[in-house]
Amino acid sequence: MARYTGPVCRLCRREGLKLFLKGQKCYTQKCPIEKRAYPPGQHGQGRVKMSNYGLQLREKQKAKRIYGVLERQFKRYFKVAQKATGVTGQVLLQQLERRLDNVLFRMGFATSRAEGRQLVRHRAVRVNGALVDIPSYPVKAGDVIQISDHANGWAGRVKGQIDVTKDRIVPAWIQVDAAHLKGMIVRLPQKDDMGLPIQEQLIVELYSK
Ligand code: SF4
Repeated sequence: MARYTGPVCRLCRREGLKLFLKGQKCYTQKCPIEKRAYPPGQHGQGRVKMSNYGLQLREKQKAKRIYGVLERQFKRYFKVAQKATGVTGQVLLQQLERRLDNVLFRMGFATSRAEGRQLVRHRAVRVNGALVDIPSYPVKAGDVIQISDHANGWAGRVKGQIDVTKDRIVPAWIQVDAAHLKGMIVRLPQKDDMGLPIQEQLIVELYSK
């Protein structure tokens, strides 16, 4: 599965907020956005009046970058959301939030979604007792997510990450048992649970043109 491999801190500066893409560095004073909270590049500090299209594009890029999803997959999520019952923008965000790599990040078992993806790819995660190695796997209410006993060395690493992320609030839709390296999905996430500054309506407008 293709993924973005360029410099990630530039993405946070472009969106003007911390996207937590770099793991432990994001939790320290070394985070570049603390010192340079303006877009990268020569004209980063200039004032730019954005068009409607520009605003819509930025919201879409922000959502993609937060969840580490590339254009094709993002569009696929949008098409599914369009066909589903409910408000399209909210269904879109819910699908992104239900990704297994995101859930591991939310649980505090990974310091970034990219690290959550790595945990899954390295077959260190079980869902309802079965190994799952697909980072985009959509969790559902009642699912039990656990770090596998057989995942060499991962349990120790995850305990270290829990220590780094201990001050982060776990959203109400997930219940975490950090001592046993597991968690349960209590219910599906709603927009308010995500705590992300995404105006999903702008994304819907962009794709509906
Ligand atoms: Fe973003 Fe983390 Fe880099 Fe800070 S350290 S700019 S939060 S990726």
